Amino acid sequence: MNTSKSKKINELKMSLYSLSVNEAASRAMTGAFCAQINPTATEIADIKCALSEAVTNCIVHGYKGGIGNIYITVTIYENKLVKITVKDKGVGIPDVKCAMQPLYTTDKSGERSGMGFCVMESFMDKIKVSSAEGRGTTVTMFKQITGEKIF
Ligand code: ATP
Ligand code: MG
Repeated sequence: MNTSKSKKINELKMSLYSLSVNEAASRAMTGAFCAQINPTATEIADIKCALSEAVTNCIVHGYKGGIGNIYITVTIYENKLVKITVKDKGVGIPDVKCAMQPLYTTDKSGERSGMGFCVMESFMDKIKVSSAEGRGTTVTMFKQITGEKIF
C-alpha cells in the first residue's frame, strides 16, 4: 500500500492512559474523525473493531494492566486511504511472527483466544507490527475507504 502516491489531508493524534474505558473513547474519536470521508457503516465498524483489538493488546499485554500511554495516530489521505498507528511503550513482543499466528496467546487466564491480530488482518487491508522487547510495540493498519454501499 503506497501512501506516498496520495496527499495527507488530515491527521488525529491521541495519547491515552492504558485504561479499558479508553478503548471505547478511542473507538468513538476514531469513528467520528473518519466520518469526514463518508465511509460506509461497515467500513467504520471494521476500523473500530480492528482499533479495539490493537488498543486492548496495549492494555492487557503491553502494560499488563498497569498504567502507560497508548499513542494513536489516524491519518487520512486524499484517496480516502486511512492509516492508523497504535503504539505502546510496554513489554514488547519477542517473536512477532509467532504472536500473529491464529490462536497464539500468552494469556494464562483463559479469557483470551489469540485471535486479535487475525481480526485486525481481516477487517483492515494491511497490518504491520514492529516490536522490541522491553521497548514496546507499534501496530500500523491501513484501510482503503470506498464509501460505496455493497448490497
Ligand atoms: P485475543 O485478542 O483473542 O483476546 P490475544 O490478545 O492473546 O487474544 P492477539 O491479540 O492475537 O491475541 O495477540 C497475540 C499475542 O501477542 C498476545 O497473547 C501477546 O502475547 C502478544 N501481544 C499482542 N499485542 C501486544 C502488545 N501490544 N504488547 C505485548 N505483547 C503483545
Ligand atoms: Mg488481543
